[in-house]
Amino acid sequence: MQASSDRIQRIVIVGGGTAGWMSAAYLARRLSHLPVAITVVDSAQIGTIGVGEATVPAIRDFLAAVELGEPDVLAATDGTIKYGIRFEGWGGEGHGFFHPFGLYGVPAGGIAFHQYWLKLRASGHELPLGDYCLATQLAERGLFLPPSTQPGSDLGVFNFALHFDATRFAHLLRRLSLANGVAHVDGRIVDVDRDSRGVGAVRLADGRSIEGDLWIDCSGFRSLLLGEAMAVPYVDWRRWLPCDRAIAIPCRGTHVHRPFTTATAHRAGWRWHIPLQHRVGNGIVYASEHLSDEAAETTLRAALEGEALAEPNRLRFTTGHRARFWAGNVVGVGLAGGFLEPLESTSIVLVQSALERLVALFPDRDCDPRLAAAYNRQSVLEFERIRDFLLLHYWANGRTGEPFWEAMRAVELPDALAERIDAWRAGGLFVRREWDTFQDPSWLSLYAGFDLLPDRTSPIADQMEARDLLIAFSRMRDAIERAAGAAEPHAAFLARHRPRAA
Ligand code: FAD
Repeated sequence: MQASSDRIQRIVIVGGGTAGWMSAAYLARRLSHLPVAITVVDSAQIGTIGVGEATVPAIRDFLAAVELGEPDVLAATDGTIKYGIRFEGWGGEGHGFFHPFGLYGVPAGGIAFHQYWLKLRASGHELPLGDYCLATQLAERGLFLPPSTQPGSDLGVFNFALHFDATRFAHLLRRLSLANGVAHVDGRIVDVDRDSRGVGAVRLADGRSIEGDLWIDCSGFRSLLLGEAMAVPYVDWRRWLPCDRAIAIPCRGTHVHRPFTTATAHRAGWRWHIPLQHRVGNGIVYASEHLSDEAAETTLRAALEGEALAEPNRLRFTTGHRARFWAGNVVGVGLAGGFLEPLESTSIVLVQSALERLVALFPDRDCDPRLAAAYNRQSVLEFERIRDFLLLHYWANGRTGEPFWEAMRAVELPDALAERIDAWRAGGLFVRREWDTFQDPSWLSLYAGFDLLPDRTSPIADQMEARDLLIAFSRMRDAIERAAGAAEPHAAFLARHRPRAA
């Protein structure tokens, strides 16, 4: 049994960006039964990264955990609904597909829908996959329908995420955290005192010193505690994900009620379009080896749908992660732990899973290395799984005559990804692994989106005749039509919820 003096009593979160305030809000709730003081130290002088506006559906679990209502978050952050991502130009100019947050079709006789779809396709029936996915249909028609919570309901087969203004989201979490007893210190950290457990205290520019038992490093790319003080090296993944710069420019919008993110390929990377209620978030992600900063900015400006609302925010990054996310008594969360480029909006969900993992493995003051080892193993696996999913977007590209994209098609794949693609090609099989963020339908949307089809159709799909399958497929389309018919315009949904939240 541990003595109470061995328990963690002081958690210090270094950094007040999205990761810092998510950590504060979450830990304040989850540890509310423990006598733990939580302090956030950040520097208004340094500021935050100012991007990170698209999420995945897991954000809804986070909001529920910190007891924030979705309509309130949408109102406070001028947010919108996101049913997935529209990819433009990845398979070649003029080619597009949708990665939805939802299932495709329904299985029949225990056989997965996609096996029948592949069979019909092979026999000459061009059936767009998106016609069998309610999330895709809602997105393309600009509608909103909440997924049903009734078990077994046909309308529960999809989910949604949110887009939000990153600065407003951090402010909202900050207000919530402070209301729940979190302390806040505005000060620039200029020195870190090490002790036998890792970090003992941080010193601020104004001479103050702050002590802690457990440190959550949310200091952004600088990784002040984990990278600098604890000297944990960085694992560089640029050979797989070579985009290393981004420029973000918000603008006035005309397409602010699209309930989806758009990711449009350009000659050396891609651009994002994130619709918010008060503006559009735009950015260009590119490989500096293939595109100059000037050319990138010109490309981005040419694509803005309205007047630019701020100066460009120029960012540099290296995809990868710290070799250990938890070292001594320091846990790196957010950009301080690692960064996978924003193609599938996965950084915020990684913050969330890091916090869930930390609570599950919550240590005493000695920070048992066995807990840290388990934490690190799980975190690395989760990062690797997402890396492979992102890499598939690049490797499967169908763009021609552009050195960046030619090089991406020739990249040597990590074994785990090569195995997944082989299984798919051999018979439309999905490989499922521990700590996968993206499930079968996400992989299907990409394989189909890139026309990467299995070498053969599976004999198990032969149990239904093509004629019967076509009738079943037509019924599925009818069911989706009926469901979409019950949805309301996304714009109306947002307008309806504003006054209530206000
Ligand atoms: P930051 O926002 O950089 O915060 C760092 C904090 O540390 C600040 O408060 C700063 O003041 C403080 N700090 C630093 N040094 C000191 C010091 N010496 N003393 C005191 N305080 C200090 N994620 C998504 O989920 N979806 C997206 O769509 C998405 N898009 C992105 C696009 C780009 C181009 C990039 C680069 C990232 C994107 N991300 C996205 C990632 C997302 O922006 C971050 O994960 C998220 O904002 C969290 O950042 P952070 O809090 O770790 O770091």
